[in-house]
Amino acid sequence: MRRKLLLGNWKMNKTPSEALEFCNAAKEMGLAKLARANKVDMGVCVPAVDLQVVKKSLKNSLIVGAENCHWLDHGAYTGEVSIPMLKELNIGWCLIGHSERREYDNETSEKCNLKIKALLANGLVPVYCCGESEATYDAGNTKSFVEEQIIAGFKDLSEEEAAKVVIAYEPIWAIGTGKNASEEIAEDICGFIRKVLKKLYGAKVANKIRILYGGSVKPASVKGYLSQKDIDGALVGGASLDVNSYKQLLTAIL
Ligand code: PEP
Repeated sequence: MRRKLLLGNWKMNKTPSEALEFCNAAKEMGLAKLARANKVDMGVCVPAVDLQVVKKSLKNSLIVGAENCHWLDHGAYTGEVSIPMLKELNIGWCLIGHSERREYDNETSEKCNLKIKALLANGLVPVYCCGESEATYDAGNTKSFVEEQIIAGFKDLSEEEAAKVVIAYEPIWAIGTGKNASEEIAEDICGFIRKVLKKLYGAKVANKIRILYGGSVKPASVKGYLSQKDIDGALVGGASLDVNSYKQLLTAIL
């Protein structure tokens, strides 16, 4: 049985003091308790400079994740964040290959694969993002495009490692646009991703891997996605920034 997972992605939003305000409000609302009582894993992926304050505030009550990392432990890579840096802050999760990083930072699936392997070797959970552009969708090439991303991202992962990865299917045309994919489209592609995983690792492993949908998910739409057979949760940008709407994402699926 795969546990439901709701993950926020703050992108480049919230200073440390704004992040702390969010955490204090989340604690006052008893959000972590509510999630735990209902067997939902819930958390936020936050900018690097917010990680320390958010982790210190939330401790292990909610998942705290980074939005990116480098695959090497240290070196001359100005502006990058290493996995040992994340580990020292007890950060256990990290987004990899978000479409914004693929578009603006030349994040290829091959680089994602290096990062996924390094995270797994260090005991962190990679949330591997994939998804097609509007042009690819319109051309009817979504499945072959996403299959390539999955195969390249999972290259050389053992069954045991693969089972620990979380996948987020996020059609680029739905991210931050308010133009979310229908439940049917989202399920069609998430189900297809599980089929690809079955081909790579067999049914037992494929059935363990959590697949999230992301792209303009709101409190009003989250339940419909999570009711689909192959969608185990949501990766949420805009609607995770306000603590009230973040809470509503949870209450909507209970
Ligand atoms: C995201 O940042 O991954 C995302 C899906 O954003 P939004 O929910 O705002 O579309």
